[in-house]
Amino acid sequence: MNIILLGPPGAGKGTQAERLEKSHRMIQLSTGDMLRDEVTSESELGRQAKEIMASGELMPDDIVVQIVAEQLCRDECEFGFTLDGFPRTETQARALDGIMIDKGLKLHGVIEMKVDDDALTERITGRYSCAKCGAGYHDRFQRPKVEGVCDECGSTEFNRRADDNEEAVRHRLAAYHAVTEQILPFYREKGILRTVDGMATIDEVTKQIEDAIEQLQ
Ligand code: ADP
Ligand code: ADP
Ligand code: ZN
Repeated sequence: MNIILLGPPGAGKGTQAERLEKSHRMIQLSTGDMLRDEVTSESELGRQAKEIMASGELMPDDIVVQIVAEQLCRDECEFGFTLDGFPRTETQARALDGIMIDKGLKLHGVIEMKVDDDALTERITGRYSCAKCGAGYHDRFQRPKVEGVCDECGSTEFNRRADDNEEAVRHRLAAYHAVTEQILPFYREKGILRTVDGMATIDEVTKQIEDAIEQLQ
């Protein structure tokens, strides 16, 4: 099962992709994570990405498409994948179709996660993740079972993203509405678009996504 989770920054894409990895062994492919790895390793690409990401603008299509083409489904994607944060432009969506054809893969569905803008700022400014395993948390909505200790790996170190501040969030939201949202009709016309209520609780959203996946199979 190969799907795209599509939604604004803070919609819960990463949170749900993490769950699908556990429940369905679908590999999470996050272009944001891939780009952050480049920044951390201080590669040439990482140096270019750092500033653009910090400002909340989109990276150029050709760069992101190339990264996805390289990473998409190596052997470990036996049970499929969840794309998180890609595609974000129509050019990327069309390029993805080409990549899928080249690799003989099928895109089963696109799940739109709808969340009000007002809720997103609170989600993003409260977001943090485990420094060791990357598990996602939130100051209010998703606290570890034991305060200060990662549920998944027991680490006591956590990170907050440099771009999870109000200024960058404004830019990211604007980019979502101006550009990313415009690709919904592309997938609606293919008949593979499903929408879930991303304002619901994390567990409730998981249920809605499970139902959508069931239908798309
Ligand atoms: P969020 O989880 O808040 O939606 P991401 O981690 O997906 O954010 O992305 C962080 C930043 O990385 C974006 O603001 C953008 O600069 C860059 N980025 C990630 N994916 C893409 C993409 N598909 N196209 C262009 N830029 C991207
Ligand atoms: P995205 O990957 O779409 O940018 P995340 O999955 O990182 O979003 O979620 C953003 C923040 O909101 C995280 O701190 C996460 O714990 C929290 N969160 C995710 N889904 C929900 C939800 N349905 N209700 C409340 N908080 C949520
Ligand atoms: Zn951890």
